[in-house]
Amino acid sequence: PESVPRRHDVRLPPDTTRDAFDKAITALRKDLGVEHVVLNDKPLVDGWYLEHPNTHDAFHVVDQEDLVCSAMAYPATTAEVQTIVRWANTYAIPIYPISMGRNVGYGGTAPRVPGSVVIDLGKRMNRILNIDGENASCVVEPGVSYFALYEEIQRRSLPLWIDCPDLGGGSVLGNAVDRGVGYTPMGDHFANHCGMEIVLPNGELLRTGMGALPGKDGADNPTWQSFQPAYGPYSDGIFSQSNFGIVCQMGFWLMRETGHQAYMITFPRDEDFPQIVEAIRPLAQNRILGNIPQLRHVAQELNVTGLPKSHWYAGTAPIPRDVIRKHASQLPCGDCSWVFYGTQYGDITSIKSQLDIIQDAFSKIEGAKFFLPKDLPDDHYIHSRALVCSGVPVLRELDWLNWVPNCAHLFFSPITPTRAADAQIVHDINVRLHKKYSFDLFPTLCVAGREMHYITNILYDRSNDDEKRRAAALMRELIATCAKEGYGEYRTHILFADQVAGTYNWNNNALMRFNETIKDALDPNGILAPGRNGIWPKKYRGKGWQI
Ligand code: ADP
Repeated sequence: PESVPRRHDVRLPPDTTRDAFDKAITALRKDLGVEHVVLNDKPLVDGWYLEHPNTHDAFHVVDQEDLVCSAMAYPATTAEVQTIVRWANTYAIPIYPISMGRNVGYGGTAPRVPGSVVIDLGKRMNRILNIDGENASCVVEPGVSYFALYEEIQRRSLPLWIDCPDLGGGSVLGNAVDRGVGYTPMGDHFANHCGMEIVLPNGELLRTGMGALPGKDGADNPTWQSFQPAYGPYSDGIFSQSNFGIVCQMGFWLMRETGHQAYMITFPRDEDFPQIVEAIRPLAQNRILGNIPQLRHVAQELNVTGLPKSHWYAGTAPIPRDVIRKHASQLPCGDCSWVFYGTQYGDITSIKSQLDIIQDAFSKIEGAKFFLPKDLPDDHYIHSRALVCSGVPVLRELDWLNWVPNCAHLFFSPITPTRAADAQIVHDINVRLHKKYSFDLFPTLCVAGREMHYITNILYDRSNDDEKRRAAALMRELIATCAKEGYGEYRTHILFADQVAGTYNWNNNALMRFNETIKDALDPNGILAPGRNGIWPKKYRGKGWQI
């Protein structure tokens, strides 16, 4: 989409005059260099995935100019991050740290409080600080993307894999801080991190885990990337999905290279869903399913061809089930309802015996069909899945964005137990409400032994105000309806953070009161990402910020 002239002048931080703001910016420029503090006063450009803006949410759900920062700052070192934090305290200006800002579908780079200064860490802090081939681990700064880490490992010819999410352009550190997932056996990114270096909201520097114990003669601790909890309370968790600190370095475990075999299984009927879930659970709990496989509704087989909705259906209403069926019957998956993408790992004999068990379990569902990549055409989506599931970053998933003109998307991401009765409730709510608000339903279940991330991708035309309103209304009703049944989201777009946080309200909001206690202790001036994940510092509470 083209840029349009700005309707408003620079969006100032709350309770800040232009004069005070200019003075503060001048001071910050003195510290960082004039070119490293840039005002957000040019026309907004949505760009695209690889050239994404850090000025606003490119996938705006509200007016494009609503969720904007006042300026962007580019620190080069941890010391400069500390300088910025102290500056923010002095001038009472909210700051919003991002790593690379490819947080697509969850708010992009937009701060929750308009007029905050975005701290774009990734632009200049993008070093791979260490890759330890023996320990199979690495330490990265915020600006290291999956592509960059992957390429460096290839360059050094190390027998190691990374774990990437569907799109490889994001920050390894940023995604883990936001508790994103990938698809190899090490797909839980936060669970596979080891050690953090964090600037606290008062400017103090903290190392977690074994990093708190100084190495010999000032070296990093030799077990910093080997042992996660170290001694005392395990504090790392409170720095994920929060606004308690700015993570400037983070360690990750890498996977040792191994054999792998991707496959696809199709199931004929929509009603097979509960049986599929019941078949998955023992396989996953026994770790026969070694990674995080995906179960997708067949509607997505149309979508991942990269062809627009208009190619399949002339109307704007959701594509009717029989039309999906008709088209699917012409595709390699055939006329089916659910498609399971899995990958097995190990040597050839081991993979073969795993596949025998899996085929045996799923073939109890009548009409299940099993495919290997060699059975499918070269341009089929399975080849891209096979790469992601063996730690090779890709961009194929951008094909989603061809679906409607000016396509943007929102993720609705509740967690359900890996149990048919629960998953069916969440699925039925999605079917009913997507129909009510007139959106195509694209559910993907990322499955593990005890829970599934049930993720629906709500695709909308961001030039169409009515679609934006309906997409937001759909999100709100999905969140509320699932919460009534006891299901909650693992992550959400910044606009819905308050609502989602509000559903985790057991015992008179004990969890939020606990979070607020930590927030107020660490950030008494309330400068760091106010409102992120629904956590508001004292200064903002009770003033109508919650939405
Ligand atoms: P990615 O580049 O993987 O998409 P982002 O940089 O957009 O990730 O990070 C996602 C969200 O996580 C950000 O909006 C921000 O709130 C939070 N975040 C990212 N990096 C950091 C960091 N280094 N310190 C604190 N919070 C961070």
